[in-house]
Amino acid sequence: MHDVVVVGGGPAGCHTAALLGQKGFDVHVFEEHPVIGEPVDCSGVIGAEAFATLELPESLRLGEIRTLTLVSPSQLEVRFSPPSPLAYIVDRAAFDRTIADKASRSGATFHLGSTVVDLQVLKECVEVVFKEIINAPRSTVHGQRSLVNGQKTLKASMVILAGGPRYGIQLKLGMGQPGDFLRTAQAEVAVRGVEEARVLMGSSVAPGSFGWIVPFRRGGNDFARIGVSAKTSPVPYLRKLIHNLYDTGYLSSSNVPVRSWVIPIAPLPRTFADRVLAVGDAAGQTKPTSGGGIFYGLLCAEAAVHSVVAAFERGDFSLGTLSRYEEEWRKKLGREIRIAAFFRRLAERLTDKDIDDLFRIVQSDGILSAVTSKAHFDWHGDVIFFTLRHPGLGRIFLKGLFG
Ligand SMILES: Cc1cc2nc3c(=O)[nH]c(=O)nc-3n(C[C@H](O)[C@H](O)[C@H](O)COP(=O)(O)OP(=O)(O)OC[C@H]3O[C@@H](n4cnc5c(N)ncnc54)[C@H](O)[C@@H]3O)c2cc1C
Repeated sequence: MHDVVVVGGGPAGCHTAALLGQKGFDVHVFEEHPVIGEPVDCSGVIGAEAFATLELPESLRLGEIRTLTLVSPSQLEVRFSPPSPLAYIVDRAAFDRTIADKASRSGATFHLGSTVVDLQVLKECVEVVFKEIINAPRSTVHGQRSLVNGQKTLKASMVILAGGPRYGIQLKLGMGQPGDFLRTAQAEVAVRGVEEARVLMGSSVAPGSFGWIVPFRRGGNDFARIGVSAKTSPVPYLRKLIHNLYDTGYLSSSNVPVRSWVIPIAPLPRTFADRVLAVGDAAGQTKPTSGGGIFYGLLCAEAAVHSVVAAFERGDFSLGTLSRYEEEWRKKLGREIRIAAFFRRLAERLTDKDIDDLFRIVQSDGILSAVTSKAHFDWHGDVIFFTLRHPGLGRIFLKGLFG
């Protein structure tokens, strides 16, 4: 029997595997795709703190966000330029592979092209049921696949669920699923003249959420990740944005492939079960404001490792022992997630006129420098409190509560 099986070779799963491997555990990582990091469904924007936490090589950076321009429904602009870079734009596939390499070097065994289809939690172990896949396509998650060898099983003392936004196993184990999601659509395109990152707001751009343009350079050429998150189908909104950018000369083609995916923006009701923990998107550990999940997933991976170590030390893998995982990660992130979720609910009620009014206040009131000094890429609580306490801004956000 093995010590730990990790389901999913994304950043949360690989970071967990690397930390457990370094502590001498016998770890097996199952990743359904044949190559770690592909396909990419992410803008790859990572805060400076996350970068430092992982001690990542600078070569992963494709660019940095020094200035962020927010654009209102009627094209008013607010420009944030903090003294140091807000975040870095990484090559997300290479980023995942760097963490996977760390896990491999720490002794973790990778099963690529292997999908975990079920877990049987037994008294003495967890039986992991998986299928090995060949000819799995690299560029799409919906292509044709050939199954070989049928189903196989492997036994482990514990399982870490780190398979991203899929919740079949969590539901089966009584852990539930996130109560809120964003739908996303994104394209990576060659661009010209796009100098700075932009966040776009308004009901005709991204209903209930926002769009983004994140420029970076690769191989001496200019590219951007252009995306939309929304509560409704985002693809038509992204297509419209791409056409607008094409018409204004920023893109040389509007015929670009678009990938759509989903982001959980609320944690699971319970992130642990007997012999099982969930981390990253599999646990809904993202920032409810932006949907960014890489950093929170990495922080929660560390908390998961503490609970795995404690469970092995006691020889007790029960729900009672593993509940400490949820206590630990909620201590770190619970307040931030609650404040951000509250703020998102307020923001989702704003009309286009409300958003324009907010921009006018920020432009006229001289509060931009105060907001900038409180803004942090990964920690949003301070800037949210500042915003809601400001008489003009707070009135617009909070009126929906009493209207
Ligand atoms: C369009 C878009 C843009 C985003 N931009 C950002 C951003 O700029 N910054 C940021 O911080 N976050 C961003 N996010 C969110 C971020 O991508 C996720 O929070 C992050 O990828 C979560 O990491 P993870 O390891 O938990 O899951 P994932 O990265 O989803 O990795 C899970 C892995 O598990 C595999 N898997 C799933 N089920 C199984 C199974 N049963 N068996 C075997 N393998 C399995 C999957 O194939 C996948 O490789 C974005 C998300 C989207 C959709």
